[in-house]
Amino acid sequence: MPSRLSLRWQPRQLITATSLVLLVACAEKPTAADAIPLAPAQPAQSAVTTPLPSDSTPANDDIQPSQTFAQWQAAFREQALQAGISASTFDRAFLDVTPDMDVIKADRSQPEFTRPVWEYLDGALSPVRVRKGKALLEQHAQLLSQLEQRYGVDRQILVSVWGMESNFGQFQGKKSVIRSLATLAYEGRRPQFAHDQLLAALQILQNGDIQVDAMRGSWAGAMGQTQFIPTTYNTHAVDFDGDGRRDIWNSSADALASTAHYLQSSGWKRGQPWGFEVRLPSTFDFWLADGSQRKSVAEWLELGVQLPGGTRLPENSNQLSAALLLPAGARGPAFLVFDNFRAILKYNNSSSYALAVSLLGDRFSGWGYIAGGWPKDDLPLSRNERIELQSLLNASGHEAGNADGIIGANTRKAIRNAQQAQGWPADGYPTQKLLESLRQH
Ligand code: CA
Repeated sequence: MPSRLSLRWQPRQLITATSLVLLVACAEKPTAADAIPLAPAQPAQSAVTTPLPSDSTPANDDIQPSQTFAQWQAAFREQALQAGISASTFDRAFLDVTPDMDVIKADRSQPEFTRPVWEYLDGALSPVRVRKGKALLEQHAQLLSQLEQRYGVDRQILVSVWGMESNFGQFQGKKSVIRSLATLAYEGRRPQFAHDQLLAALQILQNGDIQVDAMRGSWAGAMGQTQFIPTTYNTHAVDFDGDGRRDIWNSSADALASTAHYLQSSGWKRGQPWGFEVRLPSTFDFWLADGSQRKSVAEWLELGVQLPGGTRLPENSNQLSAALLLPAGARGPAFLVFDNFRAILKYNNSSSYALAVSLLGDRFSGWGYIAGGWPKDDLPLSRNERIELQSLLNASGHEAGNADGIIGANTRKAIRNAQQAQGWPADGYPTQKLLESLRQH
């Protein structure tokens, strides 16, 4: 379809003088993030990797199992057999399985401090990772062309997700998936979720895609180079190299094809932008910076959104709807994000993660540098401070909901109302300044 060509997005047009300066100033040195897998800066609820608690899924910290592990295993075996798992598959998978205390510890931990988004992005977009991704884009050029044609997902984004999920296959997690999920099904905070994942993991073993000893992953059961949980594996993993097994652990072709298949199902459209950075006037109505407010680029421009100097809009931008993203509130950089950004959120529902994937994909092509400054004097609230903020918001009539330390839609709205009452930009971003002001009342 020749008309598609003229609609193709030209990201090069977005490179501004500022980003070129940053490009030159950026020192190339390895960071710690190249050696360790990254966790999203914000609590995430993910379709692919394991969901963390959110406003809607209260976690239970005080689970005391009412049965021994052996009793639980015997009851679960009955359910697995009824679900079509053979006795031999089950018994081979559960040979010598005991609860893993490290998994329980990881499941119960609630980090007190959140990493600022700018530090998270620095680690995610390290020069070493960018360089490695560029080399892999060349090395796998033929495979990536095939995947683009088959699934309609751009190669840069596939390699970017690969880099973010497992540092291109390097850090897949070494834990036994069966043992981790059995532990979580026995006494985790979300036993039903773990139960379903464990059944799916047994189905994978029964299909013969992987042997039980080689079925390794994160403590939460995310597996292989794509960090798929077992249910996502069963619906989306692909045997692309044609050896008859869907091997997301050892086959880069299978892993990248599985990622492409998942992003295709999530609505990724090849050749469309994920989004771009914009500037906002100080008089801007920050209530509009909310994922639910979607408008055309022209509508955003009418509302005062400004494009960086030298930017030319993609030709089809007015056929796409965009939301306004402020990763660090009104004082930090702003982005208009399109449907492709939402597709990345379906991989891992954290805007920091989706922004990192998007920018990393751009950096493989030499852009993706942020012109706006981060409010580095404004450190994220600790968990205790977030709980205190929610309690104070509730006490002042702003209805933040249950004070659980998680900033969800209700809390964000309450923050906006409190900010508006002060005459401040109502960006819904929790700050020390707001906490201080509520303490005075
Ligand atoms: Ca294969």
